[in-house]
Amino acid sequence: MNYLSTRNDAPPTGLAEALRAGLAPDGGLYVPESLPVLAVDDLAGSADLPTTATRALAPFFAGSELENELTSICREALDLPLPVSEIDAGPSWMLELFHGPTAAFKDFAARFLATCLDRLRSDDDPVQTVIVATSGDTGAAVAAAFHRRPGFRVVILYPDGRVSARQAHQLGCFGDNVATLRVQGNFDDCQRLAKQALNDRELIDRLALTSANSISIGRLLPQISYYVHAVAGLYRQLEAPIDIIVPTGNLGNALAAILARDLGLPIGTVHLATNANRTLPDYFSGMDYEGRPGLKTLANAMDVGDPSNFERLAWFYRDRDPRNAGITADSVDDETIRQTIARIHRQSGRIVCPHTACAMEVLDRRRASGNDRPMLLAATAHPAKFETVVEPLIGQPVPLPPALADLLDRPSQANPMAAEFEPLRDRLLAGG
Ligand SMILES: *Cc1c(COP(=O)(O)O)cnc(C)c1O
Repeated sequence: MNYLSTRNDAPPTGLAEALRAGLAPDGGLYVPESLPVLAVDDLAGSADLPTTATRALAPFFAGSELENELTSICREALDLPLPVSEIDAGPSWMLELFHGPTAAFKDFAARFLATCLDRLRSDDDPVQTVIVATSGDTGAAVAAAFHRRPGFRVVILYPDGRVSARQAHQLGCFGDNVATLRVQGNFDDCQRLAKQALNDRELIDRLALTSANSISIGRLLPQISYYVHAVAGLYRQLEAPIDIIVPTGNLGNALAAILARDLGLPIGTVHLATNANRTLPDYFSGMDYEGRPGLKTLANAMDVGDPSNFERLAWFYRDRDPRNAGITADSVDDETIRQTIARIHRQSGRIVCPHTACAMEVLDRRRASGNDRPMLLAATAHPAKFETVVEPLIGQPVPLPPALADLLDRPSQANPMAAEFEPLRDRLLAGG
């Protein structure tokens, strides 16, 4: 399989090179040149996620130097709990993606990417610098995935004051080969700075710089696999297509659901649930796409005004309008997020994070408008990461999962930095 750039100005390359580079040399995002076909029957007997992922991703690894490592990469990186629990607003299920080491869905993709890059490394390669802009959860997942891996150094950029206290603690608690910068700006600033670094030839050459953001194809691929696994499992029971609802920020996780459908899995409509950042809902309601500054909301990992994976969606749908392709998008404001967290807890005892609450609200809206198809809802973070939002609404503490408790017990440190490229460049070159 060859990989192309969404901007079509870079030569086709193999998976290994696309993984190493993160971003294509023309500033575009890497995409596979074609989508293979995958049927539920191809997954018969696939009992766990690593097995499903090995089968689903094999065509994407064909011809790559990682081809023969795929099974072991999936076993090592994707061996995380993946419960699919039933929700009252039936027939609906929750895909619980938050049982990894940092309690957010990004653990799957970050571990997969880290494992791939690790397998691509030889002992005499120079240390590789992984830069990651985070709206809250990515940074910790990437740090956990690379922490103490020889040959890698991680630099995290996060928007100061715009992540929860526990998220901030998590971002700064790794140390060793992980440096954490709190940027005086918003997430879009962090993302712009990371992209600028990844387009800087000198930095790339001197630091073997690469990205671990959702712009990396190594993040997108494993995310496809959990939708494939869950949908195949549900389809065997239901024998009906399944709609998917995804809390959406940079459009990485939702694009994975859309691609799982485009591979041929029995997925109906894909519903994007955003917070008050309306770029995608406005676009899907028929307006032109217009990136804008990110607004601060309670679902902070989705505070994105110019979703980076939109460029990939546009590329995959270059021959037809994505707005006529079985995708909806709804915006959920902070007040509704609060009401939803309280309502879900009151009705079912279930505690959801603010991002998952956006999806629960969209589920409610679809049921109210008469959609009674089976729905699979992606739950993206553990509510204990957002306890200052959630606890006052439900009137009780949210129990900490053990992995999160471990991280919060460690000391934490982050350096402040202006939202400008020069100080970032200096720090990267200084090795700190
Ligand atoms: C990152 C994140 C999202 C948004 O995912 P995208 O792939 O950026 O659309 C949603 N919820 C949580 C908890 C996240 O950490």
